[in-house]
Amino acid sequence: MYALKLELKVNNCERTRMARHAGYARFCYNLARTLYLGVMDIKVRRTRKIALIKKTFTNFIKKEPEYQWTKTLSSRVDQNAFIAFNSALERFFKDRGGFSNFKRKKSGNSFTVDISNGSVFLIAGNRIKIPTMGTFRLKETIRYNCCSQTFTISRTADKWYVSFTIKADKIPPLYHSVSAPTGRDLGVSTFATLSDGTVYQLPYSLKTAKIKLRKLQYRNRNKQLGNRKLGIKSSKNTQKFYRKLTKKHADIAQRQRHFLQKTTTEISQQYAHIRIEDLNICGMLANHKLAAAVVDSGFYQFRRFLTYKSPFYGTIVELVDRWYPSSKTCSRCSHLQPMPLQARVFVCEACGNNCNQDLNAAINLASVSNDRVRVRRPELTPDQEKEPTPYADTVRKF
Ligand SMILES: [Zn+2]
Repeated sequence: MYALKLELKVNNCERTRMARHAGYARFCYNLARTLYLGVMDIKVRRTRKIALIKKTFTNFIKKEPEYQWTKTLSSRVDQNAFIAFNSALERFFKDRGGFSNFKRKKSGNSFTVDISNGSVFLIAGNRIKIPTMGTFRLKETIRYNCCSQTFTISRTADKWYVSFTIKADKIPPLYHSVSAPTGRDLGVSTFATLSDGTVYQLPYSLKTAKIKLRKLQYRNRNKQLGNRKLGIKSSKNTQKFYRKLTKKHADIAQRQRHFLQKTTTEISQQYAHIRIEDLNICGMLANHKLAAAVVDSGFYQFRRFLTYKSPFYGTIVELVDRWYPSSKTCSRCSHLQPMPLQARVFVCEACGNNCNQDLNAAINLASVSNDRVRVRRPELTPDQEKEPTPYADTVRKF
């Protein structure tokens, strides 16, 4: 089971329709929150309260003359907004999050629709039929026929996306061309260095996109930004600036994600046994001088992608002990020597080994002894845990 997220090609008319539905979902969620706070102290089970709220909404509130506008919109949206609120409460009571806030127009516009019984058959191609919303054109194609039940439509900087899960397994390729342990070092000048000498560089376009963002911010440094507390309205040009800014940020995020996905897939397909450093990322983020470099390097995402891809490609991802001195050890004679952070070449004082700093560290990671290594397994969603894997059945027969 995995999810697809595809960009929709929408015209202005559809764009408005999407925005109205997103607004409707937000309205329902906030209404559910308000109503729930009203009945919180009554001693009835939570699910019963939510059911009551749903009934009140459909039988009374929707029929009021001032809420007639809801009739033109999909009723699956309000039902799913209540479901979303219920799961937010569930997380809250299981101590996995705080009590939900009101949804705001500013952050995250999305809504969910589903087909109430059965599932939708999606035909391969560049169109998608979304239940109760109609048929839409896609920017990418769906590559195979598949089925799904629930569709979430969301907006990121003027672009609309549809996401849904399909019940299918990714078939793991049986052979990896390299099966020996492969180390990966988080570099400063390069994105990644593997122990066989392969080097991954961050794409140049990412760098230019970041420069463009910085230029935009600098040129608009004197804009009247507005302040709600002081009653200052933001200017029209500021609003234009904000729209441009979100687009630029989304563009950078997209480029970085694309690069990371591509690299991790490539690595997972080629190498069976991958070792990376177990860095204290939370600790590094707390240091504001290091934070930007750590986020830019995408190390956390890189590790997450490698780990969740490991069952698809049959790879083993291992984390090397945080205190292992991978950059201070000579990869040829294991001589330990202090290394300044800026040094790019490792010159061994004992055997004269002259080697690139990143490559040296990568080789060390690959050859580290097994007691300093722990296997990283992907976190499964509760849904995946329930389903038996196809291998489990075959094992039981014998
Ligand atoms: Zn040496």
